[in-house]
Amino acid sequence: MIVNWEKIDTVLLDMDGTLLDLNFDNHFWNEFVPLKFAEKNGISLTLAKQQLKPQFKRMEGRLEWYCLDYWSQELQLDITGLKAEISRLISVLPHVTEFLEKLQQTSKKVLLVTNAHPYSLELKMEKTCLQLYFDEIISSHDLGAPKERREFWELLLQKHVFDINTTLLIDDSVSVLKAAQLYGIKYLISISKPDSKMPIKDVIGYPAIEDFKTLIFGL
Ligand SMILES: [Mg+2]
Repeated sequence: MIVNWEKIDTVLLDMDGTLLDLNFDNHFWNEFVPLKFAEKNGISLTLAKQQLKPQFKRMEGRLEWYCLDYWSQELQLDITGLKAEISRLISVLPHVTEFLEKLQQTSKKVLLVTNAHPYSLELKMEKTCLQLYFDEIISSHDLGAPKERREFWELLLQKHVFDINTTLLIDDSVSVLKAAQLYGIKYLISISKPDSKMPIKDVIGYPAIEDFKTLIFGL
């Protein structure tokens, strides 16, 4: 068994790539934004992708990377409007709803902890209705630091009461798991298939599940 549920009082869940299919975000940033950027600037899609790649790379792991206002300004595109345009691609990963329903029947505290911008968060909750399953929903934008940084975990614990020794974090980002582990969150699980259109990834250093079916057992 990958997790002994008896030892867990609090479950922290990431959103994109953990509960929701990362295909939406990958498609949005790798295809749709370059396409709109190319159209706006009268350049080819290939050139747009070439120009945007290093710009995206530079901001990885920083709060700005997740900030729609930042990218709207930087690229002179209505990023919020563009997200809404392809929102039909937002979808919940297999067995997630079943897992959340089961979790809700227990006395465990369930928090959504995401780096997503409040607008993306709202759009995604509106599309999926998953908000019902959480005791609290926390965006790192409200705390002022991304989950990759220690400050995020310090601030989270200042504002929300839970015991790091009985807490499980499930997140598809290894950098986030590392930061949480250094801070002392005891149980950590990654996701090996965050994007339904991509092959299974090798996750180094943490146990990983392909989908939530594995975790429902024993809950
Ligand atoms: Mg994620």
